[in-house]
Amino acid sequence: PSRSEITYFGAGPALLPTEVLEKAAQALLDYNGTGLGIAEHSHRSELATNIINEAKSDLATYLDFSAQDYETIFLQGGGTGEFAASVYNLVGAWVARQHAALLKANPGADEATVVAELRKKVESDLKLDYIVTGGWSLKAYQEAVRLLGPEYVNLVADARTVNDGKFGRIPDQSTWKLSKNAALVYYCDNETVDGVEFPEFPSVLTPAADGTGPIVVADMSSNILSRRIPVSNYSLLFFGAQKNLGSTGVTVAILKKTFLPPTTAQPSAALMRKLGLPIPPIVLQYEIIAKNNSLYNTLSIFDVYVAGQVLKRLLQTFPDKVDGQQALAVKKAGLIYGALDAYPEVYKVVPDKSVRSRMNICFRVTKNGAVDEAEKTFLKESTAIGLTGLKGHRSVGGIRASNYNSIPLEGAEKLAKFIHDFAKA
Ligand code: PLP
Repeated sequence: PSRSEITYFGAGPALLPTEVLEKAAQALLDYNGTGLGIAEHSHRSELATNIINEAKSDLATYLDFSAQDYETIFLQGGGTGEFAASVYNLVGAWVARQHAALLKANPGADEATVVAELRKKVESDLKLDYIVTGGWSLKAYQEAVRLLGPEYVNLVADARTVNDGKFGRIPDQSTWKLSKNAALVYYCDNETVDGVEFPEFPSVLTPAADGTGPIVVADMSSNILSRRIPVSNYSLLFFGAQKNLGSTGVTVAILKKTFLPPTTAQPSAALMRKLGLPIPPIVLQYEIIAKNNSLYNTLSIFDVYVAGQVLKRLLQTFPDKVDGQQALAVKKAGLIYGALDAYPEVYKVVPDKSVRSRMNICFRVTKNGAVDEAEKTFLKESTAIGLTGLKGHRSVGGIRASNYNSIPLEGAEKLAKFIHDFAKA
């Protein structure tokens, strides 16, 4: 089939807008009449720096956050790399804060005493909080345990305990066991595999009026750019590009600048070693990457370019920026869930209604008492009419329609119609 005959609902890498790909294809051959393709130009060139700076600025404009207060950095290593980077960098920041407080309280204390005190503090107080609501936050939690040891990692809530051992709900926030002064509180805003999305910013994590509050880290890999987010409530947001932003190969972190010098400097490797804590590989150290405007080492400028083009297109399409895209995302998801809900005897949406993802719509299909057979037929017939990529994640099975930004309204309408037709047939 040709590209124009297909609506691809795969979970990622996701469909990219055809106009962006056409422009990128030309740029790969010759970028702006330079005779060199975008992937051949030096990442140290002015042209590359301009591409980075424009993408940063367009991202801040589209999401409506302050580039003065937040630094955007481009990294490699995907969302998975950020599971580790968030641990390393925010443990470093926690140690830096404790260190500064100790020096302030004990001016003139010798280094050995300060280190001994710090070590005590680490043993008694260092905690990283994780809210586990699906497969991806579970992986992040496990990575923190692997890198630091279980004694430092606190499982704030495990969604499986309130849903018969399976993901599909978010435990009531009043039951969350948050630590005091945690180095970070981590959650995944949209669980790609399980179809669970936080309906809004978790209110128990809201900062106080003076801006103090928990150090919130969120993985927004699969719903970034699809709704307004209160960026100022977060210390760190990250997302791989390959769902709503661009092509696979670049990862974005939006970091509160108070976690960077001059406010916070990462502790020395020597100090961290004395405390028995890990230091990050340099490619995951935000301070270094930020200082070099994401060019500490070779960055795929092509991927940043594609992301930048997607952002430009979003800004052109939606005069009210992310709010416009949000309205469309809600409408598209409403069409698909509406069709599924119309036939409860055939379709069962996997997650609870209160946490249904607008981006990854997970459901089971049953006909004549048979699930596997019905889902096979559903996939076969949908593929035949150009609705592809609907197979659920291998770990959970079922059907998953990934309704990312690049799925046009007509694509969602076509899928909703198919859902109706299949149920009635
Ligand atoms: N977080 C979420 C929510 C994801 O959906 C994914 C991948 O699908 C990841 C993290 C991991 O990203 P990567 O494969 O880029 O490491």
